Amino acid sequence: MVPIHTTVDDSIAEIALPVPLRKVFDYRIPPEFRSFAVPGTRVTVRFGRQRKTGLVVKLKSFSAVNPENLKSIEACIDHKPVVRERLFKLLMWLADYYQAPLGEVIKLALPEVYNPKTVDQVLHYEFDNKLDSAETIHGLKNAPKQKQLLEFLLSNSGPLDEEQLKSFDLSWRRAINQLVLKGIVKVQQTPSSWSQFHQDIEPSLALSTNQQAIYEEMLERIDSFDVSLLKGVTGSGKTEIYLQLAADVLNRDKQVLVLVPEIALTPQLISRFERRLGYKAAVLHSSLTIKSRRRAWQAAATGQAKVIIGTRSAVFSATENLGLIILDEEHDMSYKQQEGVRYHARDVAVMRAKFEQIPILLGSATPSLESLANVMRDRYKLFELNERIGNAELPHIHLLAMDQLPHRQGLSTTLVNAIEKNLAQKQQSLIFINRRGYAPVVLCKSCGETVSCKRCHAKLTYHEDQLLRCHHCGFEQQDKNECGHCGSDSLIRLGQGTQRIEATLKKLLPQARIARLDRDKVRKKEQLEAVLTDVSNKNIDILVGTQMLSKGHDFSAVTLVGVINADQGLFGLDFHSTETMVQQLIQVSGRAGRGEKPGKVLIQTDFPAHPLYTYVRQHAYIEFATQELQLRQQSGFPPYRYLALLRASAMDQQSPLKFLSWIKFIADELLDDHTKIVIHDPVFSPMAKRGGRYRAQMLITSSSRIARGKFLSQWIERFENDKRTRRVRWSIDVDPLDLY
Ligand code: ADP
Ligand code: ZN
Ligand code: ZN
Repeated sequence: MVPIHTTVDDSIAEIALPVPLRKVFDYRIPPEFRSFAVPGTRVTVRFGRQRKTGLVVKLKSFSAVNPENLKSIEACIDHKPVVRERLFKLLMWLADYYQAPLGEVIKLALPEVYNPKTVDQVLHYEFDNKLDSAETIHGLKNAPKQKQLLEFLLSNSGPLDEEQLKSFDLSWRRAINQLVLKGIVKVQQTPSSWSQFHQDIEPSLALSTNQQAIYEEMLERIDSFDVSLLKGVTGSGKTEIYLQLAADVLNRDKQVLVLVPEIALTPQLISRFERRLGYKAAVLHSSLTIKSRRRAWQAAATGQAKVIIGTRSAVFSATENLGLIILDEEHDMSYKQQEGVRYHARDVAVMRAKFEQIPILLGSATPSLESLANVMRDRYKLFELNERIGNAELPHIHLLAMDQLPHRQGLSTTLVNAIEKNLAQKQQSLIFINRRGYAPVVLCKSCGETVSCKRCHAKLTYHEDQLLRCHHCGFEQQDKNECGHCGSDSLIRLGQGTQRIEATLKKLLPQARIARLDRDKVRKKEQLEAVLTDVSNKNIDILVGTQMLSKGHDFSAVTLVGVINADQGLFGLDFHSTETMVQQLIQVSGRAGRGEKPGKVLIQTDFPAHPLYTYVRQHAYIEFATQELQLRQQSGFPPYRYLALLRASAMDQQSPLKFLSWIKFIADELLDDHTKIVIHDPVFSPMAKRGGRYRAQMLITSSSRIARGKFLSQWIERFENDKRTRRVRWSIDVDPLDLY
């Protein structure tokens, strides 16, 4: 038993520090800080030999730490909580659910919080004029620091902010807190320079009958926690419904949070929301400068920004009075963070709505199987928009059987002819191939070996700049002619990537204006926007690209979509690969014929008889999903069983497996009373070496989420601080999307 030491009520604070440890830390609250150090405020503490900013999680009267070892809080940074209770609860839930250290979760969710230079608002300090200044100064004769600070404050005509007070003395904060506490100094919040309204406003559209019915039903559910899943093909008018609901929420003086995948966050989208809602949007995404992110963050946190639009991590934006969350393209895998705290922003958003007691609206043409399963379990309500707005019809989808058609460099003559015909009619075409670079395989004709990465178990891709690149670790080397294995000069480049398709089309159709869209070509947002603008201004006839093409952009004049190498997902290793493949095909097909002219989709395949293509051809997504869910249920995969993947890596081949075998042994000991959990044997990862590190993994499955959570935390506690654990890098992925 740990001895428990009694102290006065609530004199101990549990503090979350930005350290990768799965615990919070106890500190004593000195009496003068009692009214400041409340949950959600920031404090400065000693941690080892360092001074750190931490966040008060909870107050309590007892600590298991020996009183002699219990340190005190050194200073309070805030006068009121910077994180509201509901958001705070969400972060604690997240740390618990994803088995992540709370300090790391806070650092990830609120990068502003641990930066002591930032406050949620600029605070100003002013002498209380109702008091007599001379008398007050005299009264402070036993507190020289406070007296000096007050004199400094009085020597200035107006209020002073923190920066100005800092120029007086670096330890100003403690003194000013005392003065505030004694009622001598008043704290004020300055109105920030955030301009709330958007100037140029557009009236809303009259909804179609279908839209109206959905909108009304959603409106009835606007005042409480509720999850709606809006399924509608691209161009069916989903965004229009978002906009009108958002307007209603704004009318109730509440804030609206809109989440989109990184790539869909274009100026056009932001401006559509701003013009229609009449408010300037606070935009939050990963490539902002610190300054503009801080401005947007503060505007959201203080409630000045009514509309917040952002990518994955914006799900954590602090708000004053949130009324609605909209999450578009909810099936998109980019909502899942794949490193550090591996959270899924869709699931976090739903939990956030629950804590805030507000509705959340998920939208997609191809909803995730998880969400559809939640519809079947009556947790989410499904709404469907089955037709496109106006006359636009769904495109006709044809399969091109590659084994029966002549083709060159991966392009069948049928597809090339269709592109050529489209070009003659001055219409645009999109060519989708999910592989960047020129050729994915460089092979020796003499000995049959391929050129692979030195640091990964992966092949190098040949790029048109004559470099061989590894798409997994970024390694690159000069292209060479000699085979590293047999020395002969018979290396050939096999297969197609975006660059080769672009080059081939340029040769075949020299009169066409062709552009490419992939990660090599567009590294920055501005470059992406330039290409998209070129397409919408019809300066481009043919756009070749990766899955970047399949996301959210409105290519309204495109009438032909060609898909090359579609088969990749058919025999994928992951439980998720068919779902992803069908979603991508339907999404990319949805790019065709959004304008007045009907669209056509040509899919090149070696397996035209595969049943998945029947679903795709008939736009039968729900039927596909129902079938696929049955398979998932039979084979024990999500959303019917809950997974966790423990990954480990090291510089040598043996350590990861050794480590996993050891922790599996611990798990088996623990599992006596956890019959709902299955631990699979440790195995090398499908890519057993990556970036110079050897990798292994172990899958945990469970029929119960709660049992899984309990087990994982007990288990991790048993091994995380052991010295054997330090020989590897390990991570836990709760609800993994890929099993690599
Ligand atoms: P989605 O979000 O499903 O892709 P949008 O809401 O963007 O669909 O609508 C597609 C197009 O149809 C947009 O140009 C939009 O302005 C238009 N639109 C949507 N709803 C209506 C409506 N009720 N009346 C007229 N046009 C509409
Ligand atoms: Zn060779
Ligand atoms: Zn590599």
